[in-house]
Amino acid sequence: MGVFYDMLQYPVMEKGKKIVIANWKMNPQTFSAAKRLFLGIKKKAVTLRNTDTVIAPPFVFLSSLSKLYSSRRMALSGQDVFWEKKGSFTGEVSTSQLKESGADYVIVGHSERRALGETNDMVHRKVKAVIKEGLTAIVCIGESEHDSHGAYLKFLREQLESALVKIKAGNLKNIIIAYEPLWAIGKTNDEAITPEKLHETILFIRRVLIEMYNKDIAFNTRIIYGGSVERGNAHALLIQGTAQGFLVGHASLDALEFGDILDIANQVIEH
Ligand code: PEP
Repeated sequence: MGVFYDMLQYPVMEKGKKIVIANWKMNPQTFSAAKRLFLGIKKKAVTLRNTDTVIAPPFVFLSSLSKLYSSRRMALSGQDVFWEKKGSFTGEVSTSQLKESGADYVIVGHSERRALGETNDMVHRKVKAVIKEGLTAIVCIGESEHDSHGAYLKFLREQLESALVKIKAGNLKNIIIAYEPLWAIGKTNDEAITPEKLHETILFIRRVLIEMYNKDIAFNTRIIYGGSVERGNAHALLIQGTAQGFLVGHASLDALEFGDILDIANQVIEH
């Protein structure tokens, strides 16, 4: 696609550490099942030098899971957060409460939250609050339709610009952009995005980051992919797709499948 040609001269960041994030969503149903899954993933995660593993369990399991590991190769994440520090906000959780529970990361703007009414402005407030607390925000953006006319690019640009408006360049090291096209979520690997489309879209996101910041920021900001990542497509999405890691939904609920994805991510650096 023509709009990307000017980007192709820039280096592709397939080298460097990968980050793979498990979004467990509202699973598993009991703490003992969560513990079993966590320990199964941990067995693999702590052996990997080139991949950081982040687990985003339901809030209620964070604190107990935080006591089950000490490796710097693993970390915990909240699946959402509220922007206020404290007060009368029934059902919400603050950044400091997440931190106190052991989270270093927070997923913000997941499409399942947006589907429940979260707006671009709310996402922006959450990003600001997460950064202020010294946590890392995993900012999700993604279109519902990947149309051939490129309207989805305008949509992605809007989501990205409104999430990052007035966020200073120095804070981008605490932000990971998770590109998660809605049409590719919750399917199987043969229905996920193609590596070529992913590469194009990542180039587009970097172009928007150049416009908002500069080349240095654009090529040092981590961009990961989410949407039906499984062991069967992980390698191509990292190599040809140029994702710097993944946000994994259903495949993160199976320690063996997720472990294989971690292994694949870990080996990519050898290329
Ligand atoms: C997600 O919802 O963040 C996700 C990537 O899910 P899945 O891997 O199941 O498509």
